[in-house]
Amino acid sequence: MSTEHISEKRAYGQLTEEVLEEIRGILGEKNVSLDPEKRQTYSFDQVPRGHWENTFLSDVVVFPETTEQIAALLALANRLRIPVTPRGAGTGLSGGAIPLHGGIVLSTEKMNRILELDEDNLTITVEPGVVTAEITKAARTAGLLYAGDPCSGDASFIGGNVAENAGGNKVVKYGSTGASVLALEVVLADGSVTWFGGKRRKDVTGYDFVHLLAGSEGTLGIITKIILRLLPLPTKVVDLLVPFPDTDTAVAFVPRIMIEGKVIPASIEFLDRSAIRLVEDYLSTRLPHGNAGAHLIIQLEGNDPETLADEYERIGELCFRHGAMEVFVADNRNVRDKLWKARKAVGEAMVAGFVQSALEDVVVPTSAVPELMREATRITETHGVEGINFGHIGDGNMHVNFVIRKPRSDWHEVMDRALRDLYRTVRRLGGTLSGEHGIGLKRRKYMEEVMDTAQIALIRRVKQAFDPNNILNPGKIVPDV
Ligand SMILES: Cc1cc2nc3c(=O)[nH]c(=O)nc-3n(C[C@H](O)[C@H](O)[C@H](O)COP(=O)(O)OP(=O)(O)OC[C@H]3O[C@@H](n4cnc5c(N)ncnc54)[C@H](O)[C@@H]3O)c2cc1C
Repeated sequence: MSTEHISEKRAYGQLTEEVLEEIRGILGEKNVSLDPEKRQTYSFDQVPRGHWENTFLSDVVVFPETTEQIAALLALANRLRIPVTPRGAGTGLSGGAIPLHGGIVLSTEKMNRILELDEDNLTITVEPGVVTAEITKAARTAGLLYAGDPCSGDASFIGGNVAENAGGNKVVKYGSTGASVLALEVVLADGSVTWFGGKRRKDVTGYDFVHLLAGSEGTLGIITKIILRLLPLPTKVVDLLVPFPDTDTAVAFVPRIMIEGKVIPASIEFLDRSAIRLVEDYLSTRLPHGNAGAHLIIQLEGNDPETLADEYERIGELCFRHGAMEVFVADNRNVRDKLWKARKAVGEAMVAGFVQSALEDVVVPTSAVPELMREATRITETHGVEGINFGHIGDGNMHVNFVIRKPRSDWHEVMDRALRDLYRTVRRLGGTLSGEHGIGLKRRKYMEEVMDTAQIALIRRVKQAFDPNNILNPGKIVPDV
């Protein structure tokens, strides 16, 4: 199989035995691992193995327990010019946590405490290694909602969510992770520690560094504490599972939900027939009308049962008027859990089910989704690949994916052509490369498809200002940084 070969040589300091001794002195012996197996495991994320011809192995994996330890470690790494790649749970889909230049992989898994739930200010303060679902659970126990809901939430860490500005299933109503972030404690490249933002809802004092750091993919600083916004928890939730005869009818219906239905659902998710088949096989389960051309999942929520019933009846009628084959109402926890288990497992099923896959993450203005989906079919036919499409259709963020079932030697060339075609199409439609998975190592060579030279130069200058020695996750987002 032909794979992309990345060769990017940079002069970095060496991790000599003396340097390792210093690191052990900062972190303690137990928090520093040279174990080859561990270094392997912590050198990948969920981008399929074999995506790159070369593997990028760290020299050491470290497990700091405090901000102070990270500060001392970065001061040392900066002085000796040793690369540091921060890592959350490694569920990333863009190669962000891969140590391109070796050096130190910094796992946040031991910084996994929920520090405070402040009901008066509706905030929760957490360390970066807390699993996303734990935050949802802690908020729910207090009758509150943490709105971040990536499909990987049972495994991903909140630090990784913030660093990727992760999206997920509730963006249409609540925005991406960044919209819930009020403040960040960050260790900068030289080891200094600072707070951006606070428990305040407004702030125009200087630049908005909180939302520059959210989505910076570990290239500008290490996030060590996070203050998240909470909301009152809606007490009633209903999911509608709506099969349509084909993709065109399903995607054309989506804008009607808000325009004619006059509600903003918590989620509007889309799965085409191949995505349904894939996940049914993967979970050995069957969804109602599994043979339909496409399905929408529409989640509505509220506090008053009558109002909610009115809303879902109205949306249900609209569905039928716009070509739905059926409307299934899931209003109890068991049925809803089964439905969302299936929706959340599609990504996993793709990674498991194919020899090679390009799990893509493009985003377009919502009105352009119908054309995007038609173009997706054209692109798969033009380039001779199979397509599987699903995603967060309510916010125009579609996982348009190209897959093959049997190995073929020209896969990477084919994929490159198909992806450039996709990205050019997306740009023409007013969209961009990634809505939530990030650029990382996987998409950096495509940045010039959607960004002009002025923007790319500015990214480099911002990186230079934060990290003049280029030690923080070097080589990500744009090449040669
Ligand atoms: C099955 C599946 C479903 C998914 N569904 C979604 C989805 O619905 N929505 C979505 O947005 N994503 C989704 N993802 C992608 C992934 O889960 C997210 O990008 C997630 O935010 C990554 O979190 P992580 O803890 O695994 O981070 P990692 O993969 O470990 O790291 C991601 C990036 O964050 C950086 N980083 C991690 N921690 C820190 C820190 N403390 N400070 C600075 N930088 C840091 C890393 O250097 C890297 O660049 C899915 C992935 C899988 C495998």
